Amino acid sequence: MTSTIDPDDQGKIILDMVDRFLKVEVKPYVRQLERDDEYPAAIVEKMKEMGLFGCLIAPEYGGFGLNTRIYARIIERMSSVWMSISGIINSHLILAMAVQRNGTEAQKQAYLPRFATGELRGGVALTEPDCGTDLQAIRTMAKREGDEYVINGAKTWITNSMYGNTVALLVKTDLSAKPAHKGMSLLIAEKGPGFEVSRKLEKLGYKGIDTCELRFENYRVPVDRLIGGKEGRGLQQILGGLELGRINVAARGVGIASAALDESVAYAQMRKTFGKPICEHQAIQLKLGEMATRVHAARLLVDAAAQAFDRGERCDMEAGMAKYFATEAGVENSLEAMRIHGGYGYSKELNIERLYRDAPLLVIGEGTNEMQRIIIARQLIERNPV
Ligand SMILES: Cc1cc2nc3c(=O)[nH]c(=O)nc-3n(C[C@H](O)[C@H](O)[C@H](O)COP(=O)(O)OP(=O)(O)OC[C@H]3O[C@@H](n4cnc5c(N)ncnc54)[C@H](O)[C@@H]3O)c2cc1C
Repeated sequence: MTSTIDPDDQGKIILDMVDRFLKVEVKPYVRQLERDDEYPAAIVEKMKEMGLFGCLIAPEYGGFGLNTRIYARIIERMSSVWMSISGIINSHLILAMAVQRNGTEAQKQAYLPRFATGELRGGVALTEPDCGTDLQAIRTMAKREGDEYVINGAKTWITNSMYGNTVALLVKTDLSAKPAHKGMSLLIAEKGPGFEVSRKLEKLGYKGIDTCELRFENYRVPVDRLIGGKEGRGLQQILGGLELGRINVAARGVGIASAALDESVAYAQMRKTFGKPICEHQAIQLKLGEMATRVHAARLLVDAAAQAFDRGERCDMEAGMAKYFATEAGVENSLEAMRIHGGYGYSKELNIERLYRDAPLLVIGEGTNEMQRIIIARQLIERNPV
């Protein structure tokens, strides 16, 4: 997949390919897959063939090495058709980027080419039954025995963990470390004895994609799977990927918000009340005006954060603003679309109810929107001392 073409041309070629894929391979099947909460195995195979699992992986390890800007546009397009498939590559690429950014050369060579093809697929296992935001409180323990870590504990809400085969597993390697993050490490954990998917979780939306509870009982991982080869860096390694993660979740928000807008613009011209299309009623025009402005603003925020990230700048505030605004835009636009569609918005026959069920996840994942506002405020103070 190594490419010698201009990155802008490559981006356009890939976006066109993604558009065709969404139109032909995804759109016609979404409603049934969503209704049955069925894993989209055929779509995943197609995504493998297209090389989408290697979107962000560097060409020397077999990926496309796309920049974040193009990647965010891919995620926006996917989410506007079916958010679940964006999660299949998003969570996987957070795992892959943890290795690409922090791994030893041997780990990169061993894993990145197989992540790029999708032969190894998965996500990140951080959250536990007792903690999500406060990751320093995790209890999953990895005890070193010779050349292996022996792992015991539980994780929950882990995306891609039933049909995937590998996760970046956040563990405690030193319970007594102070501060606690100095005793936290990140392991490349492939499925094996003692790694059990204990339950697939039922969700409001985000159907089809597997989100599960995991249990580890004397699960053994060779020490050479410790990302970066040094203990005590796990939390930093995972937090280092959060800016990218937030830009991606923000792009999903744009996808949902724009799909809600597009469906509403079309419906408002077809649906007539009191002798005229509802788009001629001022109450509907106010909604459409607000929805369109939110989409445009959210898209600009995501693009600005992606550009800052691609320039290598610190962009936690920009990514936080994009994540906060674009995901709230997704929630607000999906509700407004439901109002505009009247009773049909509430029906399983149309897409609006799915957008409305998918959107709230975005205000929770990759750092809740409460935390985003706190991060923005802290950065604001740090960057503007008096
Ligand atoms: C569908 C789905 C998929 C997921 N996929 C994954 C995955 O692949 N891997 C993974 O590891 N996790 C995953 N998660 C978990 C997700 O990351 C967590 O749910 C999220 O981090 C929030 O953690 P929590 O649910 O424990 O909420 P809590 O941390 O308990 O937070 C509860 C509330 O308290 C607020 N709060 C917490 N601390 C503060 C504070 N200091 N100041 C102000 N407010 C605060 C929060 O904003 C929130 O409103 C997934 C979750 C869902 C629903």
